[in-house]
Amino acid sequence: MPEAPAPDAALFDKVVNLCKRRGFVFPSAEIYGGFRSTYDYGPVGVLLLRNVKDAWWRSMVQLRHDVVGLDAAILSPPAVWEASGHLKNFTDPLVDCRVCHERFRLDKLDDPEVCPNCGAKQSFTEARQFNLMFKTYAGPVEGAGAEVYLRPETAQGMFLNFKNVLETSRKRPPFGIAQVGKSFRNEITPGNFVFRTREFEQMEMEYFVPPAESPQWYEYWCQQRLDWYRDLGMPAEKLRLRAHDEDELSHYSSATSDVEFLFPWGWDELEGIANRGDYDLRQHAAHSGERLEYFDQAANERYVPHVIEPAAGATRTAMAFLMAAYDEEEVAREGQGQGDVRTVLRFHPRVAPYKVAVLPLSKKPELQGPATEVLAALQPEWMCDYDETQAIGRRYRRQDELGTPFCVTVDFDSLDDQAVTVRDRDSMAQERVPIADLVDHLRPRLDV
Ligand code: ATP
Repeated sequence: MPEAPAPDAALFDKVVNLCKRRGFVFPSAEIYGGFRSTYDYGPVGVLLLRNVKDAWWRSMVQLRHDVVGLDAAILSPPAVWEASGHLKNFTDPLVDCRVCHERFRLDKLDDPEVCPNCGAKQSFTEARQFNLMFKTYAGPVEGAGAEVYLRPETAQGMFLNFKNVLETSRKRPPFGIAQVGKSFRNEITPGNFVFRTREFEQMEMEYFVPPAESPQWYEYWCQQRLDWYRDLGMPAEKLRLRAHDEDELSHYSSATSDVEFLFPWGWDELEGIANRGDYDLRQHAAHSGERLEYFDQAANERYVPHVIEPAAGATRTAMAFLMAAYDEEEVAREGQGQGDVRTVLRFHPRVAPYKVAVLPLSKKPELQGPATEVLAALQPEWMCDYDETQAIGRRYRRQDELGTPFCVTVDFDSLDDQAVTVRDRDSMAQERVPIADLVDHLRPRLDV
């Protein structure tokens, strides 16, 4: 494994500032002073997040024949969480500082003897187990019998629908059910921007296999998932797979590994891949009375499949892509650009919010017409931005900060030669391309 670079603490503030400045992520309810640790994805951020989820879906569902999709309900009755073990076990140890009254998650403290807020020593209360699920009430009457929970993970939807999918999809083990959607956890200490929030999006897949095959499928999915991040441009030296120690494993898991990314504060989790055995199907079978098994006709054998679960965070992964893509470089002045340091997000084209920006050199009507025609030719293919104000150099810099792989400039020569200038984000090289060839020119560079 290549040697990991040191974490870059300054990078965090730079990325958070850029997110606000360029419309990636805004604090929620900002005009009311903000709502702690909740965020809204702005015009550019929503594209980034969607691209992350689409890339995951493409790799996990579209390009395979053994995985099908699902979109299950977020609200669910207590019986589900009773069976899954979440009502009892989905807790974090909570401690209060007796001096400053701040609350912390005991297992995330650097030093369990010292309060990181006020520095007091041995000021913590005994740890209490705090359940992370959000509870609410369905219908007009609050109280016993009306309680429902917001799901803290998408995974249970796959177990609850195991039988439905098996009966309708013509799949048999090994096969998977994949889901992307919101999950909710009442985190004690949300933080690090969108890394840990109370409302977030997950991308999870439950892969059901014959019991004897589970170790090999576990290895397979660990490798597949690590490759996914690499293939989308995350540098290999900022990614690693870390196997859990015995004492870190959940009671039902025989093996778990995390895909970790080198965040500005150090290595931290992007995704967990777990061998969950037959725990979930057996629990739901016992609590619901349904048979959650597979009957293998060829072998005349009935069994409860084992499950390999790759569970990733979409919002957390979007943030990691931002951190990985951020770059500053010294450049000579380009066009009428200001300053000599260029900030550029070097996103993989599949992740980049906009793929192309169409920029008429001036706002004059004779350029607007052809520029909107170029835009109309590109829009059915890719998400495009259109910007006609400010000097061209500044507009290039803006697109660099959005991570747009290509800028297409329509100038006065275009009126004569029916061609445009295509500028590459990374090299800043420019080339003249006939408008008629533009889509064919860009396709192999964008659809990779
Ligand atoms: P942690 O120990 O950090 O609380 P976890 O190991 O409980 O997290 P999982 O239950 O394995 O997390 O969830 C799978 C993935 O969902 C995580 O790897 C992460 O990417 C994402 N995720 C979990 N909790 C949050 C959160 N509060 N905010 C954003 N993403 C989250």
